[in-house]
Amino acid sequence: MIKLRDIHKAYKTEFTSLQVLKGIDLDIQEGEFASIMGSSGSGKSTLLNILGILDEYDSGEYHLAGQLMKDLSEKQAAYYRNQFIGFVFQSFNLLNFKTAVENVSLPLYYRKVDRKLRHEKAMHYLEMVGLKDWAGHLPTQLSGGQQQRVAIARSMVTEPKVLLADEPTGALDTKTSHEVMGLFQKINEQGKTVLIVTHEQDIAKVTERIIEIQDGVILTPQQV
Ligand code: ADP
Ligand code: MG
Repeated sequence: MIKLRDIHKAYKTEFTSLQVLKGIDLDIQEGEFASIMGSSGSGKSTLLNILGILDEYDSGEYHLAGQLMKDLSEKQAAYYRNQFIGFVFQSFNLLNFKTAVENVSLPLYYRKVDRKLRHEKAMHYLEMVGLKDWAGHLPTQLSGGQQQRVAIARSMVTEPKVLLADEPTGALDTKTSHEVMGLFQKINEQGKTVLIVTHEQDIAKVTERIIEIQDGVILTPQQV
């Protein structure tokens, strides 16, 4: 599903250049439940943003479902992102003036799905995350764990092949974190490829495979 070869990425300004990824090789098979674990500043978010086609890389190759993700036009990038990727963030990124069900159906609105189907699908995924009865609530009326569940439902509503989550439990307490990880596990068991970024070993341990990143390189031997 994901194949990375010698990926390099630097953040450059006029006067400075910070080399963040220093030759990343990685294969993620379809249906894997994996985590990328490393300390703060090791390059996890940079790597995940490249995987999610939210950012570009300088050199190397990234193949997603057999397609080389390089020199894409805005339109192509959006196409691959929409077709393949669901993204979950540490801070949920919900719209506070929209209800849970409205937040979940928003990606379908942008795809011009009609209102009835939008609502049906959003309710289906809210039910999957255990929040059917909270559909009419605003994010501010939900706990952190519930807000993250809404965000996960939103990431699933477009039926992506790959779910990428950047520190999805970073804003949650231990118990809630494990509940959210249980949800990712369930989503993986339903056939999705799920990749979690975390700096916490306890969280990484929930996944089937831990990929360690340190200072822009991957440490663990990369079995396929
Ligand atoms: P992690 O997610 O593992 O904490 P990041 O990938 O966010 O690490 O960051 C890796 C390094 O790149 C850090 O030193 C960070 O300050 C730097 N960095 C991240 N994003 C940017 C950016 N947009 N511009 C410049 N430097 C950045
Ligand atoms: Mg990060």
